Amino acid sequence: MAEETLFTKIINKEIPADMVYEDDLVAAFRDINPQAPTHILIVPKKPIPTVDDVSEEDEAALGRLFTAAAKIARREGISSNGYRLIINCREHGGQEVYHLHMHLLGGRPLGRMLSR
Ligand code: AMP
Repeated sequence: MAEETLFTKIINKEIPADMVYEDDLVAAFRDINPQAPTHILIVPKKPIPTVDDVSEEDEAALGRLFTAAAKIARREGISSNGYRLIINCREHGGQEVYHLHMHLLGGRPLGRMLSR
């Protein structure tokens, strides 16, 4: 059996995290190394390694990442000013944890999307 990912351990409460949202398909918790006043990771409960591994059967969970993000952003009070959603894929995308996740960042102007 494949080893559990770090985020599966968090979802299963085997590792502590500041959980802010959970439903049948996704969970969300605060990033341990926040890059903005609000920095939350939204994670499908199914441990899909990367965006390159998604399939049609994952569409409900992947769609839920967005509805959960919008809901959490409203709760965090960052909706009207806006925020950024990021999904990194593999090495060039800067992915560190190979359990697909969406970053929700906000609470200050975030500047350009990429540094040059
Ligand atoms: P990525 O580079 O897109 O794979 O992002 C992985 C993110 O997971 C980074 O922003 C880390 O700070 C965050 N992270 C790593 N370990 C933990 C943890 N135990 N709890 C919460 N966030 C974590």
